[in-house]
Amino acid sequence: MKNSSVKIKKEALVKVALFYPNKLETAVSNLGYLTIYDILNRREDTLCELFAIDEKYISKSYNSRRSISDFDIIAVSMPFEMDIFNLVKFFKVNKIPFYGKERNKFHPFIIGGGAYFTLNPEAVAEFFDAILIGEGEEAVNEFIDVYLDSENKEIVKERLSNVTGYYVPNRYSIRYDGAYVSSFRGNPPSVTKRITEDINKYVPASLSNLPNSHFKDTFLIEVSRGCPYSCAFCSTPSLYHPYRYRNLDRVLTKVNEMDYYKKVGYIGSAISDYPSLGKLVDETKIETITLSSFRINRIDENIIMSLKERGLRTVTIASESGNEKMWKKIGKGINRDMVFKAVDTLNRCSIERLKIYFIIGFHFETDDDVYDIANLLNEISKVYKGHITASVNIFIPKPQSILQWAPLAEKKTIKVRTGILRKYVRSEINVDLLSYKTAVLETLFSRGTREFSDYIIKSESNNIFNIINKNKDYFNEFTGKLDTERVLPWDFIKGGIEKEELKRKYLSI
Ligand code: SF4
Repeated sequence: MKNSSVKIKKEALVKVALFYPNKLETAVSNLGYLTIYDILNRREDTLCELFAIDEKYISKSYNSRRSISDFDIIAVSMPFEMDIFNLVKFFKVNKIPFYGKERNKFHPFIIGGGAYFTLNPEAVAEFFDAILIGEGEEAVNEFIDVYLDSENKEIVKERLSNVTGYYVPNRYSIRYDGAYVSSFRGNPPSVTKRITEDINKYVPASLSNLPNSHFKDTFLIEVSRGCPYSCAFCSTPSLYHPYRYRNLDRVLTKVNEMDYYKKVGYIGSAISDYPSLGKLVDETKIETITLSSFRINRIDENIIMSLKERGLRTVTIASESGNEKMWKKIGKGINRDMVFKAVDTLNRCSIERLKIYFIIGFHFETDDDVYDIANLLNEISKVYKGHITASVNIFIPKPQSILQWAPLAEKKTIKVRTGILRKYVRSEINVDLLSYKTAVLETLFSRGTREFSDYIIKSESNNIFNIINKNKDYFNEFTGKLDTERVLPWDFIKGGIEKEELKRKYLSI
């Protein structure tokens, strides 16, 4: 299938607009987005250019200022539910009909991929011709092969539905009963998440020609994918199942080729569990190294000292709760001794800043548990010699996590609990709190069904909270506790942690 009128790349048969529904600097800090860009442009037959939500790049590409209408395919990379509003804006500004069924053969083929779609794409599913559920390194090449081999969009869709990981929404007819599926007809009957067999084969090249990202001058590289732990509130273990890590030599070879960068950022949900982390740090030639957060029980003095010599000033840890009862219930696998041992190590290493993550609003949490968060923070601040920031999130019941059936806490409960933190946490500790409104939207859009699509489109011209308030009873069902016996909108996605296993763990909390 070919619809190219202008060629920039000599052999390009197909042009892909890679759209990230947020600012360009955020887009180019996202490794998934960068990886797809790199893989597509390695193909002789494909040209891929960047689009983002910045006014300058929403209709014209960053690379060549070519108009969106010159592209055959729009590939949307969307990791977070809150970017839905930007997605709607993109369709509107570019005069693209929202629903796939309203578009014709002259419109581009629109495909989605990224963490948001892999957890539950339903709220926006009907806007897409196809959606990749899972990882893209191998699947994206198969998509381009299918596209180029097919005579028209319908054939692309039909063929893609036979490729592992591809979900073609218009091949499904789904009826809902509020937040549950009452009837589901589709071909194939379920979609198996795509997993990249060997992540060592794909290490994105330097993208230094891209605009300044949040990680300016930093070469980002993913060293591990997924997580070997199973915190009850977290969807990462299922989203990127199974846990994998990149081979040390592969990472070092790539990073040391990039020694013209000032910094390297090693990315991974469980980075402190990376085997040979010490060797990785010691043998990295780039002067400054940054790591994503450490597990409290994996803070090692030698590694922290080596990292300090390489520019580490802030250590981020995730305590999530403040007492043993809560750590046990959420499956965090830590205790008070571990917390204070970690603080002691950071003091010995003279680390200047400590950032600690917490979550409030679990359905089994009481006010006393939140007082314990305040007490823990205050006790840490008495012994820690540097500056502390506490980042407090509200629990969101994410699809494919153990707590996927749990309710979002009521507004009044969150008000009381944030009040406790505001009043009792010592003033020298910075406390950042997530807004309740954001938590409501995140819960709704991560649990949503196809019935949300019209509301999402209306949000372009109406305040979303007015829409939610007008349909309170309907939306309350999505923020409430879900029934473990009923079919959830994302149950058709297979290949993560089995629903039965999640349910067994949920019911045992
Ligand atoms: S919260 Fe962190 S340690 Fe726990 S499962 Fe998620 S990624 Fe793993």
